[in-house]
Formats: sequence, C-alpha cells, structure tokens
Amino acid sequence: MAAIAERLSDIRERVSLACLMVERKPEDVLLLAVSKTFPASCVQEAFESGQVHFGESRQQEAAEKVAQLPAEICWHFIGKLQRNKVRKVLADFDWLHSVDSLKLAGHIDRIAGEEGKRPKVFLEVNLAGEENKGGFQVDELRREMDALAQLSNLSLQGIMVIPPAVDDPEMSRPWFIQARELQAELREESGLELPHLSMGMSGDFEVAIEEGSTIVRVGSAIFGGR
Ligand SMILES: *Cc1c(COP(=O)(O)O)cnc(C)c1O
Repeated sequence: MAAIAERLSDIRERVSLACLMVERKPEDVLLLAVSKTFPASCVQEAFESGQVHFGESRQQEAAEKVAQLPAEICWHFIGKLQRNKVRKVLADFDWLHSVDSLKLAGHIDRIAGEEGKRPKVFLEVNLAGEENKGGFQVDELRREMDALAQLSNLSLQGIMVIPPAVDDPEMSRPWFIQARELQAELREESGLELPHLSMGMSGDFEVAIEEGSTIVRVGSAIFGGR
C-alpha cells in the first residue's frame, strides 16, 4: 500500500478508537485531510483511498489543484481569508473554517448572495487571545453573534479553534473544553443548530475528539512534514 493510503488508514483507525473511548460514533467525526503545500498527485492518492474532504489554506494554490482533481472532492478553506479573494474562494470552496470578523462575514454574505451560493461557515475564535493569530475574541463573538446569525447567505456551522502550539496534546484539552462550552453557549443564545465544532490537528486530534470535535483537520500525519 502506498504511504499516503497507509497513513490515512492509520489515522482513520485512531479516529475510530478515540470515538470508542468516549462512546461517540466514528461517523460523527469528519476527517479533513489538510493538503496545503502538497501537490495534486498526493490529493489524488488520498482520494483513491476513499478520502473526500480536503483542506487548503491558500486560494491560488488550491485553485490549481481543484482544476486538476475530481469534482466529487469537497474543499474546505482553512487559511487566512482575504477580502479581495472571497469571490474566487467561493468558486472552489463550500466550507470556510476561518471567518474571523463580522466585517468579513458581512462581505462574504454579500458576495455569496451575488453568486447564488450559501457556504458552510465556521467562526474562528482566538481563545487564548494570541496577538499574532486571527480569530474573534470571545467577548467580541458573544456580542456579534446576533448580527452574524442574520447573514442569510451563510450557513453557520459552529466555531473553529487553533489552540496555542504545544508538545503535549493534553495541553490542548482545556482549550478544547472551552471551545465546546462556548459553542454550547452560542447555540443556546442564537437558537441556531451549530452542528459542527472544528478542532484538532495532527498532534492533538484524539484529545479534540474526546472533547467533542466533529471535524479534525489533519495534515502532516497524513501527507508528511511540510
Ligand atoms: C495546516 C493546518 C492544519 C493541519 O496541521 P497539521 O499539524 O499538519 O495536522 C490544521 N488546521 C489549520 C488551520 C492549518 O492551517
């Protein structure tokens, strides 16, 4: 078996095991294969072993791959989303994980309306208040949730978090718990379903699943180091 297929099957097994540990159903966790910086041939290889959802973080790099790959692939945008790239991003991506301000959300809503689209949107939250990272501050999101919920061309899915990088996956756990609690609070206050919670990467996806993640974004553990 080729390397990517082998690593994918290993990750799927680890996802299932993590689900079993906390009595969750493996089919309730979506494995997003983060293919940024890797060529279309790697995506093709993963697709051939049954992987359908892929994450990319740069619009132009992604557009080149999308053009060469099967239309059945579902693309998720996970990178910094620039205002002037929104129309192009909407052409290729149905899922946006990195919407980080009300202003940007309003802009996407307008362009989506013009294009007749309704993207699935995650609100990225900067839980630790890190200076060099994007995302809503927690209080800001609480304040702006009502306004966000009014944007009818966005299908709000939930929040996305990237906790501060650490060596020990256990150190991500408090952030994942905080994300789950914030999501529950936003769900209650907005009356929206918010069915997804996007959290967990190569180093900590099992802990994220234990704490309620429904989408784990796994790159290097599938495709190798970048
Ligand atoms: C690159 C990236 C990932 C994947 O990271 P790995 O550590 O390679 O699994 C996940 N989420 C986001 C937002 C990323 O930019």
